[in-house]
Amino acid sequence: MLAEILQKKYNKTLKECSNEEIYFGLLEMTKEMAEKKYIKDTNKKIYYISAEFLIGKLLSNNLINLGIYDEIREELKQSGKSITEVENIELEPSLGNGGLGRLAACFLDSIASLGLNGDGIGLNYHFGLFKQVFEENLQKETINPWITDDSWLIKRDKSYRVNFKDFTVKSKLYDIAVTGYDNRTNWLHLFDIETVDESIVKDGISFEKSDIEKNLTLFLYPDDSDEKGELLRIYQQYFMVSNAAQMILEECILKGSNLHDLYDYAVIQINDTHPTMVIPELIRLLMERGIEMDEAIDIVSKTCAYTNHTILSEALEKWPIKYLKKVVPHLLPIIEVLDNKVRRKFDDPTVAIIDNQERVHMAHIDIHYGFSVNGVAALHTDILKQNELNNFYKIYPEKFNNKTNGITFRRWLLHCNYDLAAFLTDLIGDGFKKDADQLERLLDFKEDANVLNTLLDIKHRNKVALKEYLFKNQGIEVDENSIFDIQIKRLHEYKRQQMNALYIIHKYLEIKNGKIPTTPITLIFGAKAAPAYIIAKDIIHLILCLQELINNDKEVNPYLKVVMVENYNVTLAEKLIPACDISEQISLASKEASGTGNMKFMLNGAITLGTMDGANVEIAELVGEDNIYIFGKSSEEVISHYENRDYVSKDYYNKDKEIRQMVDFIVSDTLMKIGKKENLERLHNELINKDWFMTLLDIKEYMQKKEEILADYEDREKWSKMMLENISRAGFFSSDRTILEYNRDIWNV
Ligand SMILES: *Cc1c(COP(=O)(O)O)cnc(C)c1O
Repeated sequence: MLAEILQKKYNKTLKECSNEEIYFGLLEMTKEMAEKKYIKDTNKKIYYISAEFLIGKLLSNNLINLGIYDEIREELKQSGKSITEVENIELEPSLGNGGLGRLAACFLDSIASLGLNGDGIGLNYHFGLFKQVFEENLQKETINPWITDDSWLIKRDKSYRVNFKDFTVKSKLYDIAVTGYDNRTNWLHLFDIETVDESIVKDGISFEKSDIEKNLTLFLYPDDSDEKGELLRIYQQYFMVSNAAQMILEECILKGSNLHDLYDYAVIQINDTHPTMVIPELIRLLMERGIEMDEAIDIVSKTCAYTNHTILSEALEKWPIKYLKKVVPHLLPIIEVLDNKVRRKFDDPTVAIIDNQERVHMAHIDIHYGFSVNGVAALHTDILKQNELNNFYKIYPEKFNNKTNGITFRRWLLHCNYDLAAFLTDLIGDGFKKDADQLERLLDFKEDANVLNTLLDIKHRNKVALKEYLFKNQGIEVDENSIFDIQIKRLHEYKRQQMNALYIIHKYLEIKNGKIPTTPITLIFGAKAAPAYIIAKDIIHLILCLQELINNDKEVNPYLKVVMVENYNVTLAEKLIPACDISEQISLASKEASGTGNMKFMLNGAITLGTMDGANVEIAELVGEDNIYIFGKSSEEVISHYENRDYVSKDYYNKDKEIRQMVDFIVSDTLMKIGKKENLERLHNELINKDWFMTLLDIKEYMQKKEEILADYEDREKWSKMMLENISRAGFFSSDRTILEYNRDIWNV
């Protein structure tokens, strides 16, 4: 199959082709096959609007979903080629920051794999999220180009006019095929403009922020803690939703909608508050088409549903009216009416849309004028109902519902852990590929020594593969016989990488004092910090300094290694997760809405070391307390500390010698020789005098649990049983289950 295409394209045999030629041959072939599986569907359609789709590389994913992965892999092998090397040619589109964007990508995969009519709508960022490089143990940001002449993007001749206050732009639509697993093809619609000028980026990722026609889709906003560029962010959001709204109305009219019945033809899922302006924009467009305002509001409210992703109040978008006036003045009269209606109905300023500081609360628009509000894990939804959004819950109890996140098993098992998937297929058949709950059949083998040993063997092989990958791609050497303890996720104080770093200091000092771990430990980190998030960057600095210190200390490095991988992304996650023994999910309870990294690790046979936060709670329920390591204060206790403002990190520091020793090591002569005084002192000071995310509250319990899990690792039989138990119970976290629930409770397509 492939051979013929290459013969036609390059007039060469498969053997003669370079990996690059093979890649572009496969790209062409796959795109054609995917397009053929698109079916014109005039039924009600799901529009998943999201500022982020962290789709990862698509070649293998698409080959798997089209059912030709094994065939192509074999064909390549016959000619002395390797699919992994061909995959290396592809550039990863980094169109997301982390979990939220990756979730959107998993959801599109599941929507198509379940045969549902649903497309994604977002933006075609040219450089996506920045690429992270380390220089002098500090994070530096550079551009992250991914669009090549030939790519997964399909240029369509569809275009809309989007009006801003001072000018109008014409959009340009690009589509990426979303292949369903043994099912239909849907589309990811990415809007762009032709005037974007990549050459305005100078020196890292800095660029002239005011020239919107040149910079509109250059970058993905590197998250909420960057205060700058807020206006650009509003331009991006409005551009995205105006295109979405125009496209949705156009498609619905074509399908026969008279717009009064829009909700019979479309359902819009608003992924976090970034697409919220779609609500006033749709109302505006319906009014332009002759519908009375009250009815337009009613129609839109029956069409839109909102997903909340965070309870960190600093991350909930509140746009100053004066900014909106500068960008989209035509939306303000509508937003004001929406606010007035709320104020007339509810005598409670906390549920108003416009606050007394003249800011528009985007989430409040979604809650009042959407028909569904969902959290992303059971605990998260409970906290929304009982605390964070309690005033709204009291008004609209019927709107609130939970949809525990999930991950697509195509990417996070079949692709990233080929050997494990093949072994499972041998044991329990391939039913689990479409019905993830069938993984429970693996439980029949929990006393089978051969099966348990094979699980350990596969893990070992994956560790060897990771070792080779890290050496080749990042020049890092690790010991495949050590314990791989991995924490990979965005860098944020609430995720508490700093707690893990303090533990490293503790271990280092222990080894220096002659206390040697039974099995060597490799601590692996991967994390990008938002460019303006100073403390997060200081934590990266600390980890990189510890890496330099420990890996160069011959007394310590046979037993302890620290690895911080550069530019953590989906591709790296796919290599790291199958090789992991210990999955670090140590956020401060109540702060991690769900987490999805935790699910990927569980599915791949890693054991969770975590707090009772996000979906960890559900993992713990599923596997039972014997198969997970839980520590730390509960979400209730943490919430009560915040309410009473009675957590004082300095007290913990003063009271406990061990804590003092670890924290003070940050500014010891040993570390100061390697690192930067300013960064290390700032972090030291932060931990003692602020520590907003309560690192010192849980650190002692964390250290104890870690010793326990390390000791248990020595009992290989016990460990392999825990692995089996975790894999068997992971079916619940398939995003197919999540999407079926969305469809059952919210979308009804
Ligand atoms: C899954 C994933 C995340 C989310 O990880 P969490 O541990 O849930 O925060 C972030 N980034 C990438 C690249 C991922 O694949």
